[in-house]
Amino acid sequence: RAVVGKILCQRSLQMCDQQRAWQESPEGRTILEFRSSLPAYKEKEAILSAILRNQVLIISGETGCGKTTQLPQFILESEIESVRGAVCNIICTQPRRIAAISVSERVAFERGEKLGESVGYKVRLEGMRGRDTHLLFCTTGILLRRLLDDRNLIGVTHIIVDEIHERGMNEDFLLIVLKDLLARRPELKLILMSATLDAELFSSYFNGAATMKIPGFTYPVRTQFLEDILEMSGYRLTPDNQIDDYGQERIWKMNKQAPRKRKSQIASSVEDALRAADLSDYSLQTRESLSCWYPDCIGFNLIQYILCNICEHERPGAILVFMIGWDDINALKEKLLTHPVLSDPSRVLLLMCHSSMDSLEQRLIFEEPEDGVRKIVLATNIAETSITINDIVFVLDCGKAKKSSYDALNNTPCLLPTWISKVSVQQRRGRAGRVQPGECYHLYPRCVYDSFAEHQLPEILRMPLQSLCLQIKSLKLGSISEFLSRALQSPEILAVQKAIEYLKTIGALDENENLTILGHNLTMLPMEPKLGKMLIFGVIFNCLDPILTIVAGLSVRDPFLTPLDKKDLAEAAKSQFSQDYSDHLAIVRAYEGWKDAEKDLNGHEYCWKNFLSAQSMRVIDALRMEFLSLLKDIGLVDSNTSSCNAWSYDMYLIRAAVCYGLYPGICSVVHKDTSFSLKTMEDGQVLLHSNSVNARETRIPYPWVVFNEKIKVNSVFLRDSTAVPDSVVLLLGGSISKGDTDGHLKMSGGYLEFFMKPAVANMYQSIRKELDNLIRS
Ligand code: ADP
Ligand code: MG
Repeated sequence: RAVVGKILCQRSLQMCDQQRAWQESPEGRTILEFRSSLPAYKEKEAILSAILRNQVLIISGETGCGKTTQLPQFILESEIESVRGAVCNIICTQPRRIAAISVSERVAFERGEKLGESVGYKVRLEGMRGRDTHLLFCTTGILLRRLLDDRNLIGVTHIIVDEIHERGMNEDFLLIVLKDLLARRPELKLILMSATLDAELFSSYFNGAATMKIPGFTYPVRTQFLEDILEMSGYRLTPDNQIDDYGQERIWKMNKQAPRKRKSQIASSVEDALRAADLSDYSLQTRESLSCWYPDCIGFNLIQYILCNICEHERPGAILVFMIGWDDINALKEKLLTHPVLSDPSRVLLLMCHSSMDSLEQRLIFEEPEDGVRKIVLATNIAETSITINDIVFVLDCGKAKKSSYDALNNTPCLLPTWISKVSVQQRRGRAGRVQPGECYHLYPRCVYDSFAEHQLPEILRMPLQSLCLQIKSLKLGSISEFLSRALQSPEILAVQKAIEYLKTIGALDENENLTILGHNLTMLPMEPKLGKMLIFGVIFNCLDPILTIVAGLSVRDPFLTPLDKKDLAEAAKSQFSQDYSDHLAIVRAYEGWKDAEKDLNGHEYCWKNFLSAQSMRVIDALRMEFLSLLKDIGLVDSNTSSCNAWSYDMYLIRAAVCYGLYPGICSVVHKDTSFSLKTMEDGQVLLHSNSVNARETRIPYPWVVFNEKIKVNSVFLRDSTAVPDSVVLLLGGSISKGDTDGHLKMSGGYLEFFMKPAVANMYQSIRKELDNLIRS
């Protein structure tokens, strides 16, 4: 012990010398100068002494004030200065992997080190840390995983949970676990950081924990709503105050303000008004076919108009455009690149910022462009709080973000673009006033803003709880309901019950709510349980290759493109992939064609010819590799051989795998003369999304269709479906009971029940049992 103590002491002294040398070097001084200009730096001493005095500290401060990059650094520096460098161990969690990586890079840079020395990061399947790493940025998921093997987090001295205002599911979950841990580890320090001033809620959760506010400073931001923007373009939009309710019955009067001839027009909606002003372009992919998923699209013309206006007439400064997701960012980029000003690289640097960008793209975002070039960043809500781009002066806010929500009653998860909260609007607006007075353009009318919720509902209250329940079980945290009742805000009992019931139906939990072997394997796979099940099936039945493609394909946006003006051609191209009555198999066929073409370096041309998104194909390719190495890591696939593919071309097996994963997402096919309809157990009649290959058929040769997702927009729509035969459902879905008829089928309690003559039922039951044993063990 004495020797170890001596080594640690020596190492701590070394770290202390190193740190001092850097701080006194010219580069170190320049960086220190920048750092000390951040609001957080001015509170450094107060923060450190508050941490010393309290076990739990909650810190709030405006985005960009230096919480994420500075606070963990203060702690590390102060520990090093007190010659405890080698024994401190600081973990800072981030909700998103990209933030964990970019922040750790930044902090290492500010410390004059390479990443992986005293500062490192760890996200799923990727990391950079060394023996001497004492400050680790990781995703919340990584810390939760670590708790699996090390429930007391031995050796960890400080835990910093960042971005708690987002109220992500993982973060809320982590807080319950940490609350218990704090009692067992009185010397452990917990620091929670938030970009909004909702510290009270967290403080009372941690029994009146200390709070601190970093005073912020931002320049004023001039705010314009849609009506102001239209006015700028020469139109006036005035709501007729007789009728309320935006978008439905409100009548907008619109006057073209021509100085001499005053033309007045009445538009029945904002959409019409925009169209009359030639600012609406709803051709985002195909508005028609997407209309049930994108009830209100953003007008690309409007965005283009504002961007041009800024580029031509406004002072210098970068522009940040908040879009909904990766796909509309891409579509917008394509559109902007056809514009003479916006596509001119000597005037405009067009960048994207979303969670799957690579590190080069990421670095470009932070760099200042050359003189005379305006940086335009098209971003998802990732740029709202977790990534700060310094030189933004103009912000365009579409008012929406993709938000997953969940209908507990019908067990229906949905990922829909939804209006953001007022708090988010304020965050977005704030991004414009960081370096000088800014401008913010909200692409919706003020009355829409007025209808926004103040805060967003925490994820734990609006998301499916299945994965969370599995995690509770794998961390051996006792009864699911009891554990969740101790959350900051507990989910509804009904939602918890539904999740447990689902996990029992799919065989992840047994009757007593204990984790089965299948359940245990599913906790190792960081994806929805249904996708994890498909992968496991693919491994067992030796058809992993196509299943990897399907699971990867379900994680990206529709790879089949349907441009409005070439709809027929696109559909013809798609039909060559869709002979199987399956959207899942269509993806497999398209991917395999692309892969072949890639071998001859013709991938791009292949995509072009077949109306496929090359980017989606590349993402699918990368995800497949990721999933495969994950299966190898957890030992489900032998790391030396790839022997899981003997039956990869057996369509029956692939259909079975899809059914095995998606059940109880199933509906029956009812044929009429020249058409068919679909019925699920909970919703009655449902419709196929018009992009589905099955939507073009008049007959389905199988009696069942399994689906990945259903979304309720007026009617219930199914997305990504596969037709499956009776035998598959009999073997892998539903349950079998003995009755007096054959094949008589009942839908009970949301699940399928087959009634059969005893002899047949016995036979099926014994096959099912064997299959079950095989899969579950
Ligand atoms: P907060 O967590 O409070 O939102 P950060 O600590 O992330 O703030 O950022 C503080 C400041 O550091 C930002 O305003 C920005 O100026 C700067 N910064 C952060 N990350 C980078 C980076 N990767 N490159 C350049 N500057 C950065
Ligand atoms: Mg931050």
